[in-house]
Order: sequence, then C-alpha cells, then structure tokens
Amino acid sequence: MAKDNKLSPVMQQYLDMKAGHPDAVLLFRLGDFYEAFFGDAIIVSKALSLVLTHRGADDRGVDIPMCGIPWHASDNYLGRLVRQGITVAIAEQMETPEQAKERGHKQIERKIIRVLTAGTLTDDKLLNPKKSNYLAAFLKGDIAAVDISTGEFLVGAGGFDDLAKLEPAEVLYDEAFAESPEILRIRENFNATPMHSRQYDNFAVPQDMGAGVARQMLFAYLKHTQKDSVIKLRPPRDIFGGGALGIDASTWKSLEIDAPLNAGGATLLDIVDQTRTAAGGRLIREWLRNLPIDPDVISARQDHVEHLFINRQVLRDFIGLFAKLPDVGRSVARLESGRGSPRDLGAVLQFLQILPELKTAGSKLDSVLAGRFQGLELFDGLEAELFMALNDDMPAFFRDGGIIKRGFSQELDMTMDLANGAKSVIAGLASEYAAKTGISNLKIKFNNMIGYFIEVAAKNAAPLMAPDSIFIHRQTMSDNMRFVTARLAELDSEIKNAAGKAALIEEEIVLKLIGHIKDRSGKIIEAASFLSEIDIYCSLAEIAEDWKWTRPKIAKGPAYRVIGARHPTVEKSLRENAGAFVKNDCDLNQQRVALLTGPNMSGKSTYLRQNALIVVLAHLGSFVPADQAEIGIVDQLFSRVGASDNLASGQSTFMVEMSETANILNRATEKSFIIFDEIGRGTATFDGMAIAQAVLEYTDRVAPRCLFATHYHELTDVGFENVKNLTIEVAEHAGEIIFMHKIIDGCADHSYGIHVAKMAGMPKEVVESAQRILERLEAKKDDVEMRKFEPAVSKSEDMAEGNERTNSNQMYLF
Ligand code: ATP
Repeated sequence: MAKDNKLSPVMQQYLDMKAGHPDAVLLFRLGDFYEAFFGDAIIVSKALSLVLTHRGADDRGVDIPMCGIPWHASDNYLGRLVRQGITVAIAEQMETPEQAKERGHKQIERKIIRVLTAGTLTDDKLLNPKKSNYLAAFLKGDIAAVDISTGEFLVGAGGFDDLAKLEPAEVLYDEAFAESPEILRIRENFNATPMHSRQYDNFAVPQDMGAGVARQMLFAYLKHTQKDSVIKLRPPRDIFGGGALGIDASTWKSLEIDAPLNAGGATLLDIVDQTRTAAGGRLIREWLRNLPIDPDVISARQDHVEHLFINRQVLRDFIGLFAKLPDVGRSVARLESGRGSPRDLGAVLQFLQILPELKTAGSKLDSVLAGRFQGLELFDGLEAELFMALNDDMPAFFRDGGIIKRGFSQELDMTMDLANGAKSVIAGLASEYAAKTGISNLKIKFNNMIGYFIEVAAKNAAPLMAPDSIFIHRQTMSDNMRFVTARLAELDSEIKNAAGKAALIEEEIVLKLIGHIKDRSGKIIEAASFLSEIDIYCSLAEIAEDWKWTRPKIAKGPAYRVIGARHPTVEKSLRENAGAFVKNDCDLNQQRVALLTGPNMSGKSTYLRQNALIVVLAHLGSFVPADQAEIGIVDQLFSRVGASDNLASGQSTFMVEMSETANILNRATEKSFIIFDEIGRGTATFDGMAIAQAVLEYTDRVAPRCLFATHYHELTDVGFENVKNLTIEVAEHAGEIIFMHKIIDGCADHSYGIHVAKMAGMPKEVVESAQRILERLEAKKDDVEMRKFEPAVSKSEDMAEGNERTNSNQMYLF
C-alpha cells in the first residue's frame, strides 16, 4: 500500500500491517481496544452489530471508518467473527508508551501476533469442548490434519469421505484445483481456504512430522497464522489407512450419527455420548468415525464395557471422578504454545490431584484394565510442586498476579510484603500529614505522571506552601493542589520497584512451573488419553444399563440376527412422550435380503435405520438396543434413505438418489450391509419399479445383508433366492386402521396412502374423492394387462420398453 504523508503515523502503521494480511480483518490494538479501520471496520460493525465511528481522515479528507471491540472482552467478539467465517489478524502492542519513549520512538511497536481462523482456535471459549477442531490440508488425495488445541496430528491418504470423517473446521486446498470436482465438494461442505503453491512449495516440515505435500501446506499455513508461537504436535497418526468400517459421507449423514438432518433432531451420539470429560467426548466422536472391523478389537472394548456394566460401584466411582476431571489436554497444549492462562496451570494441578483416586478406583477392576491402571503414572513430584505453588483460585490472566501461594517462595513473599506494607505506610503517612497540617481531608493519591502525591483543597493549601515546609508543590488543579514530600517520593519508588519486582519473581516461578509441566507433557497427555478411553467405556456401560442394551455376539462371517431390537433415538423420544417402542426382530442369517413392504408411517424407515445403527454400535464395541444380537463384521455400511437432495450442487433429488444407489452397487460386497428405502420412487412408476427390481436383482446376486423397503408390492411376487418378504402388521378396528409397528413375515396388501392422507388432515372431500378414484382404479386393475417383471437377464430390453410406456400406463398401478 502506498505510503501517504498525510496519514497519521498510527494509521500508516495500520496500513502497512494490513498490506501483509489483505484477506484478514485486521484488529489493531489501541490502548484498551482492538480497532478495525476502513473496510474492515464496516465488516466488523456489521458482523458484531457494533457502532461504526470514525477516526481522523484519509488524504482526501474523508472520514476513516472505525469500529472497536474492548480488549478485555475480546474473546467473545473474536469467536463470533471467526464463526462467521471471518479471518482475523491481531496486531498487538509490543511495548508501553513509556518503553517506546525510552527507545526514543514516539510510535509504539506493534506486531501481528496471530491470525485467527476457524481451524486455528485454541481458546476454550471459542471451542466446543467435546469436539476436535481440525485444520486439514487436502492435496491430490494426501491429507494432513491438526487440532492445535490438543496437538493431535493426523495424516494419510484418502478422498472426500475420509476428510469428511474429521468434520474439519477449516480445509486448505491449492487454488489451482479450485474447480476440480473433489475440491468443489470440499468448498461446498466446509470452510475452505485456498493457498497458492508458492506459499508452501518449499516449506520445510519439521523432521519428526514426516513428509508430504499436505503436510507442507499445513505447516506453511500454521507458520502464517500462528507466527512465532510454538505449536507442539503429537507424533503423526494415520487414521485413514483402512481397517475401519467404510461409511461414505451420504450414509453418514442420513443415519444421523453425529449430526441431525433437521435442526433439533436427535443423533446417535446424543445417546451414546454420556462421557463426563471433554476429551472423552472428543474421543467417542473419533471412535464413531473410525469403527474397527477387527473382531478382537471390538471384543476387547466389549469386555471393558461389560466389566463396568457388572461392577456398578466402580462405574459410579468413575463417573463421579470423571465429572471433576478438567480438560488437561487442551490446557497443556495452550501452556506449551505460550497461550496458557493461570487457569490452565490450575487445571493441570486438578488433573494430577484426581489421578490417585482414579487409580484406586481402576485397581478395583478385575480385568486387563486393572493392569493398565496399575501402570498409570501419578506425577507425585509435579503434583506436590504445583500444589505448594498455586493459589486455590486462579486469576484469568497471568498479568493479574496472585498466582503463587504464600509460603512457596520466601523472596516473593518478602517483596510482596514490601509492596503491600508500603501501601499501608502510605495510609499512615496520610494521617500523619493530615494531623500535621490540620487538613482532615488531606489525601494521598496516585497517578502515572507524578506517582504518589498529596492532594488538598486549594483553599487549604497555604500552610503547605510555606517556604520551610516539607511539602513540595507539584500541580495546581482548578479546586485542588498537589504536593509531594521527599519521604513520599522515596516510598513511591520503593513500592513501584517492589510491585514490579514481585511480578518478575512470580513470572519466573510460573515459567519454571510451566517448564516442569512441559517436561512431563507427553506422559500427562498419555494418562489423559487413557482416561478418556475409560470414560467412553463408562459411558457405554451406563447406557447399556439405562436402556437395557445387550452385548452383541460378534461373528466373523456375514451373520445378522437381532431379537427385540429398538431404534435408540426413536425409543428415547417415545419414552419421553409416554409412548412405547414396539421391539422388532431381524434375521438375515438365511436369506440375506429382506424386502419390506408396508404402509407409509408404519415404521419402515425406523426399522431400516435401527438395524443400520445397531451395526454401527456393534462395531463401536458398544452394547446394542436389542434383547439378543449376533452380528458379523461388516466391511461397508450403506444407507440410501429419504430425500437427501443436493439441490445446491444443481442435482435433482432423483439424480442424487440414482448416483448414491450407483455408488452403493459399485462398491458393495457380500460383507456389506445396506439399507435401501424406496429406491425409484422419484420417477414415473414403471421407471421406478424397473429400477427397484433391477437393484433388487443385483443385490440378490451379490448377497450383502440388505434391508430393502418399497411401495412396489409387485416386487414381492418375483421370487428371488436370497430375498425374503417382510411387512408391517396392520390392524383394522371398527373401520379404523391401526399401524402396529410390528415387523412380520409376508407382504403388504394395501398401501393405506389415503388413510395416512386422512391422518395428515387432508380435506374430507379430497379424501373421499381419492377413495372413489382408488376403488375405480382397483376395479380396472384386473382388466388391465399388468406388466409382470421377471428377474430375467434380458431385463435391459424390458426396462427400455417399460420406460416408453411409463407415461401412458403409470396410473394403472395404484
Ligand atoms: P414413510 O413410508 O412415510 O416414510 P415409514 O413407514 O418409514 O413411513 P417411519 O417414519 O419409520 O414410517 O415411522 C413413522 C413413525 O412411527 C415414527 O416417527 C415413530 O414415531 C413411529 N414408529 C415407527 N416405528 C415404531 C416402533 N417400532 N414402535 C413405536 N413407534 C414406531
């Protein structure tokens, strides 16, 4: 930006800094405020609904817009800006005006200390405690991701679905590929930040962090945003390297595992996450995203859950202790990067204090876990040191002081005594001077200019002005006069020195304590990770108890048999509304595919989803909502349910349905588990039925475990080898239809669509008219030569024919 002499030096400094970060809103520290100027001021005022003011004028004499946020309450404002997708660069004052003066500069030195983006947050107030906050870099199938709030570092090869598993808060991509389909998808779904290859091409990744382009991009961006802060990362972990149950992004979304489809809806995570610690909450999300397919891993987890399920007292003990456990992982990460607060120190102490109790509780377990608890390190020395050093209540900021307990450092205590003692001497001095001068309301005050001074009303000042007086006149105000004395000046410097010195001693102690924490940080994090794992087992045991879940038998083959199963969130919401969930069985051990026909609103989708969720829960190592369950390992779980349209990307609902179905058929194996809900309903009847039948034929051949719900009752007549028919019991009582929600063998004979329309409040005349039309159509149906779909190999011809007839014949079916 061109320099302009007419601008004030401060404004010039602002513009110079802004030039280095043109894409960020620059917040510039001016005294007690962070100020934004020019266009940035307008953005900030709109985003935060703050008043737009102005400061000075530019070279054309036009007012410069200004908008400020108070420095002491900045956390909240910064969070709101970042959450709106605004990148914020923070220019901090690096010295006081006095220090600048000492250097012989009028201008205070300022520096951009940090650029805040959605993926680089660390402050507790800006983060969801139970969710990792990943900054990911994605380049040609290479992924690197970091959560700098915990130091977690993940790497690997993968595509959109793998990246989506992380729910990254921000994704970096190379702008050269901005229009490629994968990057377009990333840009549509995530907060994405473009980078130019020159920004990262030659960036050196720290040696112990491995190599790769995504890593280069990530580390270059960290340098750009975190400036000189030290970000300590844990060793890279490959979480995309296979060995997990495959769940693509649309399946994930449609099953509402960790996010509801509609605002306010319930998720599986809401049920299973009863963890008491933030780290446990973060870990269970990660576990859900990376479901193991190794039966041994799953059984080991089940063992732990079962053990706690049986040992209720230990479970209660743990739950009570976990509730008190602070988020030490994030505290340690903040302390390591120099962004910690006294409260983070307090959190480390609190964590170390609870450890022995947890160890005792853990040793009561009679399982492999007890051994792991025995190996839990207690950090006695560090705990004792922090306990002796830290006050009970920690201030919010180090500069507030008062962190170190009395008795920990003699030197600090003595200096503090001097500072505080001198203050009381000043009070004594004020009384002494008042007595001496007879001015009862004589006061000793303090300001930065004079330091301590005596203030009296101007009308009383005469005795102090006497030539032989010990009082030295310093200032005349409108009503008052100010004086100092030699003794006061002496005390002033003693106090100043003592207070400053005490702050320095305290800082030194704090740095030493932080150093000691850093020395043990790896082990502390290790202990915290172990405990977050236990927190998950406790959570799963508690749910199993509360909801009467059962331990599924994990089979290596493609078994699937559940008895008395429920949908976890539907059951919960029914229970909350005094309703009862009707349990259902599902047995795919003989015939792998179940074709489910039944009326609308009878519970088909619920049945499909509950079985898919049971697959998820079983792989998580959890108990499942059923009375009995036997589940074989699943390689990939697919769900094609409901209308998850993708209109934003220009695809019609039907197109989305077809491409998701295509994706499933192209990838499914005999080890997969699929739920298909009403395939083909988005097009004309014959088209839709033809597609549904062809998909069913294909599924029959590949033979994954599959639940296939349809309104095309005709499909039940086809007779496939691997397909069995299920339907939903319907009772008719006094002319009223009652959906029993009970899955039984057989086929539906009616659709009951008109009944549902009536339930939905359709006008009476429309319902009656529909009933008459239906009766006419059904009467005609027998006369019409109904097309019969055979499971023939020559189906492509059949379908083409069906297609042509679609428009003229579609009304004959229903
Ligand atoms: P549509 O074909 O219209 O999508 P559907 O047959 O898939 O309907 P669901 O959406 O699964 O029906 O269920 C409708 C409602 O019925 C659910 O919201 C739930 O309240 C209730 N329901 C479903 N299954 C059960 C069950 N097993 N026990 C009790 N209530 C149930």
